Amino acid sequence: MRSDCGQPAPAGSATTGFDDLPGVSAAVAASAAATAFAGVSTTAPTQRRRWLEAVAEALHSRAELLVALAEEETGLGEVRLRQELTDAAANARYYAAVGEGGGWLRAQAQRRTGGSAADLRKAHLSIGPVAVFGASNFPFKFGVFGHDTCAAVAAGCSVVVKAHPAHPRLSRAIAGTVTAALDAAGAPAGTFGLIEGFTEGLALVQLPEIAAVAFTGSQSGGMALVDAVRARPLPIPVFAEMGTVNPVVVTPGAAHSIEPIAAGFVESFTRGGGQFCTKPGLLLVPRGCGAAAAIAAALSSRDGVRLLTAGISDAFRAGVGDLVAAGAEVLATGGPADGEHVVRPVALSVSPDVLRQGSRLLQECFGPVGLVAEYGHFAEVGEILSRMQPALAGSVFSADGADPDVSSVVAQLAGRTGRVVVNDWPTGVACVDAMHHGGPWPATSRPDATSVGADALARFTRPVAFQNVPDEALPPALQDANPWRLVRYDQEGRPW
Ligand code: NAP
Repeated sequence: MRSDCGQPAPAGSATTGFDDLPGVSAAVAASAAATAFAGVSTTAPTQRRRWLEAVAEALHSRAELLVALAEEETGLGEVRLRQELTDAAANARYYAAVGEGGGWLRAQAQRRTGGSAADLRKAHLSIGPVAVFGASNFPFKFGVFGHDTCAAVAAGCSVVVKAHPAHPRLSRAIAGTVTAALDAAGAPAGTFGLIEGFTEGLALVQLPEIAAVAFTGSQSGGMALVDAVRARPLPIPVFAEMGTVNPVVVTPGAAHSIEPIAAGFVESFTRGGGQFCTKPGLLLVPRGCGAAAAIAAALSSRDGVRLLTAGISDAFRAGVGDLVAAGAEVLATGGPADGEHVVRPVALSVSPDVLRQGSRLLQECFGPVGLVAEYGHFAEVGEILSRMQPALAGSVFSADGADPDVSSVVAQLAGRTGRVVVNDWPTGVACVDAMHHGGPWPATSRPDATSVGADALARFTRPVAFQNVPDEALPPALQDANPWRLVRYDQEGRPW
């Protein structure tokens, strides 16, 4: 249904071929996904790899149109969007290869030997149709065909995506591209579906066909879905990846060369209009190191930035006002803010005393704002970090060579974030096996899960043990003939 979201194409904008397609309700899309699931989950991972690769290819072939639409609806800039589309297609290929590798199935066997009574086999099975909610700020990588959709299909699940209202035409054009490519590659009808509208999104997570929810967005949105799912007769897992204040600590040893750090901070908290979940939100520096002047100098050359929507720019202005009301002071602002949804980037200074647990200062303000706090003694850093909400990522800048303060900060950040970074900025998330993109609540609703990297598939599976089950009744991953050609070992370490 497009009732509370659909918009006609603006005059003069590109024709996508998908603007006039009738939308479907959550119920229809979930039913189609449930029908498709049997076929998707029993298809060999090698074949699912071909489906995802076909979509990656199709995205490339429509790149001109998709990037033009994305620019029209988000204003994130053609260069950035072209790169993001390229990355999203590469990510699809990555998840396709991870899926084919089969490690995520974790097939294990305690096979009956002479004396043992039972034949036990265990594997992670595809969980069922997955509802995906993407974020506004990465229309390709965390959107309709982003990490969640690709990981779910690679793990043998069908998917229903709730389109983000910040880019409805792009969402439809990507969905049309995905559906056509999956059909041509032989995927079952209903493997992928798109719905639109706030109420349809809420209805989707209530439907009995849906087996898991993957969400990327704000804390309020993520927690609303967690609550909505709790009200179901049969609860299901909700993997909500949300937004946090990501701390960056500058040790006393690193503060001797503060200019490049200050410039990097400004570059990092204004990149993409500050609309990154991994934006460095709070910089902790030694008192009197000159950071304030260096940040002001770096920010003075920055122009105003267009944010994604009127709602996001209004929320940003209100949020900065709230931060000032909570005790922050304006340290510096960037250039003029003329134009639709355009705001001035701003750096705020705060005293460590006002950084109290529960303060608005320690909650995300989405957009180009960064907070700076000066500590007196290094021991204060630990106290401030312990008062912060757990976060997606945290950084520490250290002195060249051995720095006695690094280990303690790394240990503290490891206890409170999903990713610890040394001498670099947290902005940007590589899609590789060793990545973890998550963190303790409220960074996510599931501290055990990542939405990026090989382990992202694990969210869409469920382990099942099979005891004394005849070979022909086992799932393919556990059958003696190994039809999916997995690398598997039995209890004695023998390939099986
Ligand atoms: P958002 O406003 O939470 O929206 C995300 C999706 O959830 C939209 O489809 C939205 O639909 C839906 N939604 C929001 N509130 C809802 C509710 N109460 N009930 C049902 N559905 C709801 O987030 P956004 O503005 O797109 O993205 C910005 C936020 O995402 C920032 O906080 C950023 O830090 C975070 N983010 C996190 C990550 C990560 O990986 N952790 C990545 C990117 C962005 P409607 O608009 O129709 O309500």
